[in-house]
Amino acid sequence: MPKAPPARPRRESHAALVRRARQVDRLLAEAFPDARCELTHTSAFELLIATVLSAQTTDKQVNTVTPCLFARFPDAQGLAEADLVTLEALVKPAGFYHQKAKAIQGIGRCLLERFEGQVPRTMEDLVTLPGVGRKTANVVLGNAFAIPGFPVDTHVTRVSMRLGWVPTADPVAIETALTRLFPDDMWTMASHRLIFQGRYVCRARRPNCAGCAVAALCPSAGSFG
Ligand code: SF4
Repeated sequence: MPKAPPARPRRESHAALVRRARQVDRLLAEAFPDARCELTHTSAFELLIATVLSAQTTDKQVNTVTPCLFARFPDAQGLAEADLVTLEALVKPAGFYHQKAKAIQGIGRCLLERFEGQVPRTMEDLVTLPGVGRKTANVVLGNAFAIPGFPVDTHVTRVSMRLGWVPTADPVAIETALTRLFPDDMWTMASHRLIFQGRYVCRARRPNCAGCAVAALCPSAGSFG
């Protein structure tokens, strides 16, 4: 759980906070011109399953699992009818394989029973699928369907708190706060940039403030000993 966020710069108005957030995003766009979803996928279905598998592990690790998984079970029907033990063996390198295998098989069955085998395109429907929360739903909406969504993961949470953008570690409150800082056509890319920033610079332990592109705009800069 991230530490309490630093205080926002004194007397920073909402308008000033928005200006600072947009400046940070522009600098992160320069620092990470290739920021993108790092989960390998070729369809909404593959992205949905890969994102569920990415809980508590790295995208790299998931990318070692999904080629074999999707070669054997390329669609909702395949997952729904798969042997659970086989599924568990395939997803085991991604960790928590009992829960994850059960969740993705449950997703296959739900897609088949309720959505004609297709991934639904609304937050309301996506979060009814097993193992799918708002973060996963926003990843799918933004990256597979180009429907605005602001995924809030552990990196977005940590970086937003250190930047003094949000007063809480609650992901839903953070999502709401961030969607007020950026117009909806920026949400998906702003989230990717924050994820890259958290993954490669503003790491949980020993953030690299000296090498950070947005240090001049960050109230936490240099405060990690
Ligand atoms: S200055 Fe440090 S704490 Fe602030 S965003 Fe950069 S790496 Fe993170």
